[in-house]
Amino acid sequence: MCRIETGLPKGDNIMARFGIHLSISGGLTNATSRAVELGCDCFQIFSRNPRTLKAKPLDPGEANSFRAAVVEAGLKPVVIHANYLINVASPKDETYEKSVSALTDELRRAEILGADCLVLHPGNHLGSGVEAGSRRIASAIDRAYEDSGALVPICLENMAGAGTEIGVSFSELRSIIDISERGPFLRICLDTCHAYGGGYNVATERGLDATLGELDSAVGLDRVMIVHANDSKGQLGSGKDRHDHIGEGSIGLAGFRAILARPELRRLPFVLETPVDAPEDQVRDLAALKACAAGEER
Ligand SMILES: [Zn+2]
Ligand SMILES: [Zn+2]
Repeated sequence: MCRIETGLPKGDNIMARFGIHLSISGGLTNATSRAVELGCDCFQIFSRNPRTLKAKPLDPGEANSFRAAVVEAGLKPVVIHANYLINVASPKDETYEKSVSALTDELRRAEILGADCLVLHPGNHLGSGVEAGSRRIASAIDRAYEDSGALVPICLENMAGAGTEIGVSFSELRSIIDISERGPFLRICLDTCHAYGGGYNVATERGLDATLGELDSAVGLDRVMIVHANDSKGQLGSGKDRHDHIGEGSIGLAGFRAILARPELRRLPFVLETPVDAPEDQVRDLAALKACAAGEER
C-alpha cells in the first residue's frame, strides 16, 4: 500500500483542529477574520464565485493580504473547495473542456493563495459509466497539474451517490488515483454525510470499524487529509447529499463522539459544511463538534 507522509501529528492524544466553510462574499481577507471570530483553527472557502465556471482573475494585492492574514491568525490548513459546477467526468466534450480549464484555474488560485489543498468532487459520469468517467477524471487532473504548474494537492471527496456521481465507494476513489499520473500526490477528503448517504455507517462503533478498515485498504488512512463534518438528513445508504446540523441528523451526537474518538480521524482537520439558516448556526455546530471531541454528553 502506498503510504504518504501527511506531516500531521500522530498519537492518541492529538486534539482535532476545527474549521468552517466560510463565505468570501465580503472578500477573501474578511473570511480569515470571520474564522478567527468564530474560533476556528482552520477553514475552507471557495476561491471564486461558486455559481459560475467563469472567474475574474485574482487580484495579487488581495492574494497577498489573504496569505498574510492567514499566517497572522495561525489558521491551518487553508482548504479551498473547487467549484461544484466542474464535472471532469463528463462524457460531453464541451462541458469536459470547460471543466478542465476551471480546474486548472482552481489549482493556480489555490497555489497563489497558499492553500494547503483543493477539494474536488470527482464528478458525474452522466450514463457513460464509472470506468469511462474515472478515466476522464484522471486525465483532467493530469492536464490541470501540467497546465497550472501547481503543486497543491487535490483531495478527492467521497460522494453520497446522487445521480451518476463517481467516488461513492473508496475503491472508486482508488481507481482514479491508480489511473492518474499524479496519483501519488492525490489525497482524500472524507465527508461524513456523504459517507453515510453512500452506505458507510459512520454513526456506530461497528460501522466505523468497517468504514475505516475499507478506507485503509482502499486508499490508505494516511492519504486522508480532511474530514468534512456534516450530519445527514438522509438515511444510511439513501444516496442523499443533504447536510444537517451536528447532532440533528441521522449520525447524531453519539455518532460524532465515536468519530472524534478515533485517533486515525482525530489527527485530521474537521471542517463544517452544515446549513446556515440563521447567523448563529455555525457557532452552534462548531460548539457541538468541539463538545463531541471532548466526549461530552449533551
Ligand atoms: Zn464537497
Ligand atoms: Zn463535503
